[in-house]
Amino acid sequence: MKKILVTGGAGFIGNHLCRRLLNEGNYVICLDNFFTGLKRHIQDLLGSPNFELIEHDIVEKIDLDCDQIYNLACPASPPHYQYDPVKTFKTSVLGILNMLELAQKNKATILQASTSEVYGNPLEHPQNEQYWGNVNPIGIRSCYDEGKRAAETLMMDYYRQYGTNIRIVRIFNTYGPNMDPKDGRVVSNCIVQALQNENITVYGDGMQTRSFCYVDDLVEGLIRMMNNSKNIAGPVNLGNPSERTVINLAEMVLELTGSKSKIVFMPLPSDDPVKRKPDISLAQRELNWNPRVDITDGLKETIKYFKQYIDC
Ligand code: NAD
Ligand code: UDP
Repeated sequence: MKKILVTGGAGFIGNHLCRRLLNEGNYVICLDNFFTGLKRHIQDLLGSPNFELIEHDIVEKIDLDCDQIYNLACPASPPHYQYDPVKTFKTSVLGILNMLELAQKNKATILQASTSEVYGNPLEHPQNEQYWGNVNPIGIRSCYDEGKRAAETLMMDYYRQYGTNIRIVRIFNTYGPNMDPKDGRVVSNCIVQALQNENITVYGDGMQTRSFCYVDDLVEGLIRMMNNSKNIAGPVNLGNPSERTVINLAEMVLELTGSKSKIVFMPLPSDDPVKRKPDISLAQRELNWNPRVDITDGLKETIKYFKQYIDC
């Protein structure tokens, strides 16, 4: 039985990962400061003798025993990470430092949840791992983008300098059940607005693109990366290459919910990337990983979840 630490385990991706790791027979320590995470997400796991919850902030040091660390702790939606940008940067940079020290001490493997945001507003399309990105260092998204870039730097320097066993994944837009309905991301906003027959807010002209990956596929990729037998450090892109415009996503949600909502256009936030699509050939080749869930099926599951949430 492996002892696995999941920081940010009460968050959207974290709770799915904790549940899956627990079901596979591991001992799971979920560490979270509950900034954006919710107890409700992990309520069903709390009774298990192999599940432990630690309320802690990764900006502060911690000492515990573990074999693997998944470092997911960090607010991920623009409104959440822009709420306290200085704290977001500290979480990325001081947080990964503390987790790398912990990995070193335990000789544990550590996986960092990095992001497609390291590519910024990309000048290459689709984005592969060799691309260095086009990031504004002083904009409103920088606390997140540059924090994640600095965390990648620290991961690589611990790897080269101390031989720490590291894994870096660059996660592209992920959606699914247990998203926070108020996190301000496009998928949650569109679904909640459609279910409540409120206007669907599309920022800019809606022609910007994203590539949306269902959370179960993403979790499968995280686990494959952590346990890859060749010790590939990465970075490795994880995302669904099926690219669509924001307006197209809004129209799909309208159709799948049968909502009477109208689409309204709002100003585009600054530095909002124009397009984004992962090149996943590295993950396909080295991890034998492919996203399986089609957007229609994934959206149906997500809509089902939000319906229950809104009804109660
Ligand atoms: P989320 O906001 O739902 O979850 C983040 C979790 O981390 C929350 O439970 C929060 O309370 C916790 N947290 C935040 N700061 C912390 C701190 N200082 N100490 C301890 N816990 C802290 O976000 P998510 O969508 O589940 O994202 C998880 C990870 O994946 C993040 O690191 C994010 O940057 C990365 N990621 C997510 C996406 C996506 O589309 N969801 C895309 C790229 C990268
Ligand atoms: N977006 C939108 N309406 C919303 C929320 C977001 O049109 O209610 C846009 C946003 O400007 C961006 C895209 O949808 O172009 C994806 O936004 P999200 O916050 O989900 O992810 P990120 O920008 O971090 O990729």
